[in-house]
Amino acid sequence: MPTEFDLIARYFTRPAANAVLGVGDDAALLRPAPGMDLVVSTDMLVACRHFLPDTDPYRLGHKTLAVNLSDLAAMGAIPRWATLALALPEADEAWIEAFSRGLHDLADRFGVSLIGGDTTRGPLNLCVTVLGEVEAGRALRRDGAQDGDDIWVSGELGAAAIGLQHLLGKLHLHDLEALSCTTRLETPEPRIVLGRALGGVAHAAIDLSDGLLADLGHILERSAVGAEIDLGSLPAHPAIGARPTDAIARHCLLAGGDDYELCFTAPATVAEAVLLAGGMAGVAVTRIGRITRQAGLRGRDANGRIDTLDIHGFDHFAD
Ligand code: ADP
Ligand code: MG
Repeated sequence: MPTEFDLIARYFTRPAANAVLGVGDDAALLRPAPGMDLVVSTDMLVACRHFLPDTDPYRLGHKTLAVNLSDLAAMGAIPRWATLALALPEADEAWIEAFSRGLHDLADRFGVSLIGGDTTRGPLNLCVTVLGEVEAGRALRRDGAQDGDDIWVSGELGAAAIGLQHLLGKLHLHDLEALSCTTRLETPEPRIVLGRALGGVAHAAIDLSDGLLADLGHILERSAVGAEIDLGSLPAHPAIGARPTDAIARHCLLAGGDDYELCFTAPATVAEAVLLAGGMAGVAVTRIGRITRQAGLRGRDANGRIDTLDIHGFDHFAD
């Protein structure tokens, strides 16, 4: 049986090129560049709550880091370092090897160094803290949205949520739809380049982890504004577009979690710069509505009818 220290040495000790001191001491030593703010975020993935326990471990390693990098993307930050705290029910080396590869492969793509963590026995639980840098005063925050701003989202919405409904047997997707949507669910793409490109362009940003309505709601609350969404303009994943009258599909589109796209606001005068940012990042960006002085979140349907949107996003304590 490998010990905790064997596992750390084999799977979680890599050279940390951008740290003064990485894995192996009581703590890591980091030196942020002058003029940069340090950006820190933690996200935990709990088996059965955030992922199905039989999820492919390589994909789970990717997702564990990706959901954290997504928070840095939403701040407009450059990701630099990560720590990993994990509780494992058993030392299944094949599982740990694949998990660590999924995590390291994504870390390598964005130049992120794993600089520490903790490894213990317990119910499967994966917790990453990411650290990044952003030019002082240039972070994208939730509280900057202004009356009249356009509201944008990246990518397509609802794929991850409808993929999960398929895996849970609540709805049946065709083979190709299932492949597309479960891939989005299990290997989300953190929109780091888009977040960087929106610095100095967007007024406010958030990443979509709990669903469009809930997450846009956080921007509205923090910015003390309201919004009107043009429901017909939402960039629905084709699996959702193919089910226009299905209540589960509609719920996935408006309130489904796990897409890890960015939702952001920007004045209409910089619309060209927003489109260029999407081009730089290689992801579509779609204008879905407008920030209003009037509080609340309203949707405009295809007939121009305006109604309050009250489908709540997934709330861990609501069920
Ligand atoms: P301590 O007892 O001083 O807290 P540990 O024995 O828990 O130290 O960890 C030894 C070293 O391995 C530390 O540098 C710690 O950050 C690192 N480490 C432990 N688990 C992980 C992990 N899963 N991923 C990365 N580094 C880890
Ligand atoms: Mg110690």
